[in-house]
Order: sequence, then structure tokens, then C-alpha cells
Amino acid sequence: MLCGNERLHKSDNKNQTYKDLICNEVVEIQVRRQRYRCSSCGNKQWDTVSGASSYLRKSMKLMLMEKRGTQSDLAISGVRG
Ligand SMILES: [Zn+2]
Repeated sequence: MLCGNERLHKSDNKNQTYKDLICNEVVEIQVRRQRYRCSSCGNKQWDTVSGASSYLRKSMKLMLMEKRGTQSDLAISGVRG
């Protein structure tokens, strides 16, 4: 936390939709986010989602794939069966 206080109380929570990459397909997953409130300064802060960007709501795996380019992997995922 910003003030360095370790005593955090659970505040509200919510479900967010994140995008992940599974078997070369983009899938949406529900992530439960927990917000904490600092008992000292009253600041509120959401928890962090490991392996994903909480700003873009995408997994690191998906972001890496997008950075690499869309040609090869997405072409494969478009073929079914
Ligand atoms: Zn604080």
C-alpha cells in the first residue's frame, strides 16, 4: 500500500471478464477481484491478477501472442475439425 500500512480490511468485490488464450483460441474467463481498504489512511486498492494485465484485462499469454503478430497462430485457430 502507498502508506506502507499492512493492516488491510477486505472491502467490496466484483467479477470481471478477462481474456485468455487457451489452445490458440481467445476465451473469456471470469475473475473475482477483491478490494482492500487500508485501516490507517483509508485508501482502497484492488488486488492484482497474477499473469494478467488488470488494465487491459488480458492474460500475459494473450498479450504476447498479439505482440508477436496475428498471422500464424490465428490462422490455425480459425480451422476447426
Ligand atoms: Zn494506507
